[in-house]
Amino acid sequence: MTATVIDGKAFAAKVRGQVATHVARIKADHGITPGLAVVLVGEDPASQVYVRSKGKLTVEVGMNSYEHKLDAETSQADLLALIAQLNADPDVHGILVQLPLPKHLNEDLVINAIDPAKDVDGFHISNVGLLGTGQKSMVPCTPLGCLMMLRTHHGSLSGMEAVVIGRSNIVGKPMAQLLLGDSCTVTVAHSRTRDLADIVRRADIVVAAVGRPQMVSGDWIKPGATVIDVGINRIDKPDGGTRLVGDVDYDSCAQVAGAITPVPGGVGPMTIACLLANTLTACCRSAGLDEPQGLTV
Ligand code: NAD
Repeated sequence: MTATVIDGKAFAAKVRGQVATHVARIKADHGITPGLAVVLVGEDPASQVYVRSKGKLTVEVGMNSYEHKLDAETSQADLLALIAQLNADPDVHGILVQLPLPKHLNEDLVINAIDPAKDVDGFHISNVGLLGTGQKSMVPCTPLGCLMMLRTHHGSLSGMEAVVIGRSNIVGKPMAQLLLGDSCTVTVAHSRTRDLADIVRRADIVVAAVGRPQMVSGDWIKPGATVIDVGINRIDKPDGGTRLVGDVDYDSCAQVAGAITPVPGGVGPMTIACLLANTLTACCRSAGLDEPQGLTV
């Protein structure tokens, strides 16, 4: 079997198109322009690239983008003061603090200072609790993107066996909650899991969010399973230079799986598309407007 490739790049472009259409409509009908504020502390090169591309795509879908770049020595008090200001700003519907923060700043404290209604990353403790209890929340972007691709590929996920590898607050745990919400039977595997290959072998859906290049090999995969690769790892090429690979050994898994997401071009583009979808959702909720269909859970 050769797996169907789930094209995250094309899927993300479609989601951004839906967001843009909805943004244009609420601008015309209600005079409201959704706004996303991104806060970057320090000069981490990877974070700078992410923030730039988020800003560009935010503007492309017709939203306002507000970038706040603070120097690496910014104090906790100054950062919290900026968040309070953004919480109070009616033009800002979504707030994202780019992680990781410099070591002297307390990430939990900073994230939990964001107004949960504007927490478009879905990391605020209130949103985590709402998601965990099956209530309307802001859903973390990466797992939301994975769920959208899975729903589109399968229709219903009800009764499917899902194995999520990784238990981070950003990906693994919310992914497991979302799959449970869609009535999958969910196993969460992690660094202390015994017999990982045997556990993965029973899955109809495998979501790998580990951060270990090409760890999941084709002989772990049940024939016909759907493999979602969240990992982003840079490895050396034999002839010099580097390339991006996922947590899944794509070539061997694609021989066995029914469907698979590539890296790059799979989950990554969906994450930013879902950030824009969440900003739109936050804006609609704050203005009491209908939420966009199919762009949130
Ligand atoms: P993390 O380091 O916070 O968590 C990794 C998880 O993997 C941990 O729960 C750990 O228990 C588990 N793990 C580690 N070694 C393991 C092993 N040998 N066997 C089984 N489980 C093991 O990472 P994260 O933030 O969840 O990110 C995971 C990967 O996803 C990274 O490569 C990251 O770059 C990528 N990522 C991609 C996107 C995207 O938009 N595509 C977004 C977020 C993260």
